[in-house]
Amino acid sequence: MAYLGNPGRTIAVLEKYNFNFRKNFGQNFLIDDHILTKIVDAAGITDEDCVLEIGPGIGTMTQYLCERARKVIAVEIDNSLIPILNDTLSEYDNVTIINKDILKVDIAALAEEYNEGRPIKVVANLPYYITTPIVMGLFESLVPLESITVMVQKEVAERMQTGPGSKDYGALSLSVAFYSKAEVIAVVSPNCFIPKPKVESSVIRMTLHKQKPVEVKDETFLFAIIRASFQQRRKTLINGLSNAGLPGVTKEDVRNALIQMGKPETVRGETFTLEEFATLANLLYRE
Ligand code: SAM
Repeated sequence: MAYLGNPGRTIAVLEKYNFNFRKNFGQNFLIDDHILTKIVDAAGITDEDCVLEIGPGIGTMTQYLCERARKVIAVEIDNSLIPILNDTLSEYDNVTIINKDILKVDIAALAEEYNEGRPIKVVANLPYYITTPIVMGLFESLVPLESITVMVQKEVAERMQTGPGSKDYGALSLSVAFYSKAEVIAVVSPNCFIPKPKVESSVIRMTLHKQKPVEVKDETFLFAIIRASFQQRRKTLINGLSNAGLPGVTKEDVRNALIQMGKPETVRGETFTLEEFATLANLLYRE
């Protein structure tokens, strides 16, 4: 039974092992049964699923996942948590604990080994200091993925889900839109964690597109254009892109592309939709 989603039982485990929180690993453990159930429900875990949990901590959410999934792979960097996980997860035979930095794990190989290469689901209360590298790494690698349901800092969830015109709109929003359909599931108070984080959190679910929403000649070039457009937000696209050192892209090329798109010379990247960035990238791309 999943028994850890409760402050008293979590504190008892921490005391039993004399556990010291490591701030540099972003350790804020969930203690709220309602939120834990909501995350696992939102991820739509069934007994056919293979789930990757990033950062299981003392195994709280892992217990909920083990109750529902066929297989759970839990990757934890902090070796002082491994004996605790072996204890709190001892009643489950469908979990594999891996003591590694998630950024150095070959996740595609795990999907191959534990799910015959079929798409896996990622569920996590993420360590906030590496949210973007984890999420972008998952998107950009060749990992077969069905969905990513994660707790992140509330502001980051807003950046992930927003569109043109908002101050939060940027390269992260466009990457998330390119790869997935994102929905914020819940806003979570600091009171739901031990220790309490200084910020509010959100649970966001990103369901990967079966087919990309835009067609581009070269994805790497699209993202080079997007990053360059937001590097200096206050600059016009013409200035931002022609100063970015993109191979073969001159100021004249950008001006001509904007004319073809019916856009004024003064336009800024923050007003462009994903479709418009795709059109611009295709116009500027040289084989
Ligand atoms: N899942 C637990 C929960 O909800 O109570 C803990 C979540 S806590 C926010 C983040 C967890 O990620 C911690 O256990 C931390 O040690 C682990 N972690 C931090 N950096 C990591 C990394 N690079 N690779 C794997 N795990 C990491």
